[in-house]
Amino acid sequence: MPLREQTDVKEVETILNKILNISSPPVARCRLLSSGFNPGHALNIAEDIAGHKECLGCGSCIDICPFLFREPSRRQKTEQRTSMALETTVGADCDQCDACVLACPQVDTTIKNYIVNRRMIEVMSRLEQRIGDEDEPDLDLFTEEALT
Ligand code: SF4
Ligand code: SF4
Repeated sequence: MPLREQTDVKEVETILNKILNISSPPVARCRLLSSGFNPGHALNIAEDIAGHKECLGCGSCIDICPFLFREPSRRQKTEQRTSMALETTVGADCDQCDACVLACPQVDTTIKNYIVNRRMIEVMSRLEQRIGDEDEPDLDLFTEEALT
């Protein structure tokens, strides 16, 4: 269990859905809706930074982004690895897959659980339309063959 009390999604559900429905990287806004740095995180520093919601610059959101994976030249625009860099390089071309939110250590687990449990089916169908599956293996067929 998290050591710090996390955001109650019921209290932010409306604004959270608005954020997730915009065609723009959602991770920074989801970070701001979260409870901030958890004292359980093992940073070896003296000052108390619990509760701070700043971007850690870890680059996890950039590394996981499927749009940047498909368009690696966009990543050359900046060497920064922050949510600002993600917004600059992806912008309105965001797939709205929510992967950056799930990868961010500063976003509360309560928000991640909401996304996985309540939004993933919608996200998957949107991605299928946007990216297409012509070159992808038929996973249903693959599973059927593996089970027979
Ligand atoms: S495509 Fe997905 S991972 Fe990339 S910025 Fe948009 S929501 Fe985040
Ligand atoms: S994943 Fe890392 S770089 Fe991206 S917004 Fe979160 S803290 Fe910042």
